[in-house]
Amino acid sequence: MTAWHEYVGVSHIHTTDSDGTKCVSEIIKIGQKTGLDFLFFSDHMTLKSLHLGLEGWHGNTFVLIGYEIHDQTNKNHYLAFNINEVLSGELSPQEYVREVKKRGGLGIIAHPDETRVLPQFPPYPWTAWDAKEFDGIEIWNQMSEWMEGINRFNQPKMFVSPRRYLKSPTPKTLKIWDELNKQKKVFGISGVDVHAHPYRFGPFKLVIFPYEVQFKSLRTHLLLDTPLSRDTKIAKKQIIDAMRNCQLFISNYRRGDAKGFSFYAESKNQMAKIGERINFSDDVTFIIKAPQKCQIRLLRDGTIVSESVGRNLEYSAREPGIYRVEAYKGKKGWIFSNHIRVE
Ligand SMILES: [Zn+2]
Ligand SMILES: [Zn+2]
Repeated sequence: MTAWHEYVGVSHIHTTDSDGTKCVSEIIKIGQKTGLDFLFFSDHMTLKSLHLGLEGWHGNTFVLIGYEIHDQTNKNHYLAFNINEVLSGELSPQEYVREVKKRGGLGIIAHPDETRVLPQFPPYPWTAWDAKEFDGIEIWNQMSEWMEGINRFNQPKMFVSPRRYLKSPTPKTLKIWDELNKQKKVFGISGVDVHAHPYRFGPFKLVIFPYEVQFKSLRTHLLLDTPLSRDTKIAKKQIIDAMRNCQLFISNYRRGDAKGFSFYAESKNQMAKIGERINFSDDVTFIIKAPQKCQIRLLRDGTIVSESVGRNLEYSAREPGIYRVEAYKGKKGWIFSNHIRVE
């Protein structure tokens, strides 16, 4: 039973418009080759490629172009989509979060709890939690996690197979995200944060995260009510609306292709997919199906209420709350869904 249309892509890509190493057109080709349905670009403080008309369909890949905002001290990174011009660089985070909302944009807090070990790469965590008008947060950012895991001793290994070291979103970020969702809908998304920089390591210079490798790691799966329109304007609205409504889950492709994962709730009279709500009654059942064997956890308000190993889990809701799913392979995170609300 599938009452939705799944589209898979990646978010938070940098290009030569700021500090990436390939241009938008080259990266689109890589995305198409990798079979991605969409790519979300967010360069630092520029919308150059949007103004060049590159947003929209490129073959079967939909390209959305926003930008990554930072404050005057280069902190508090914020991704803004569905916005047509770059805001003044003098705004405070509270001001740009509000302004993006006011202009009908979609705002995502980037790498919220980033910490880093190597002094040459400082962290950029989110500190402006009193800003309220954001729509989503990056619950899993590949670049942050890789940078946090790196130290003087494991550098060679980390450099050679960067994706192996991705574990999971941090408990701290997941907790913040669950708490926020008790108040209102805030979607959780993944970010690859691709810059594809060449790093110098001893005598070698290598690109740690070529775009094609990044596109096979953290992916975002959007669950739309209707198939994506071929009309750019309509398709863009479908994508933005689905994100705003939390109709998505994220996965690490390195652990397996999560396409086809499903999590929904049903009762006699209602059905709710990820992002939706269902009335509490004594017959609300959650149904979870994973495309491969894994450890499935169902969480209510951030606490595990049921667990199983395999491809399925069913659970009767005993209480209202916000429910989401985590799936692991070994100790490594694979799939993280947004919430279904039982009210
Ligand atoms: Zn950033
Ligand atoms: Zn970035």
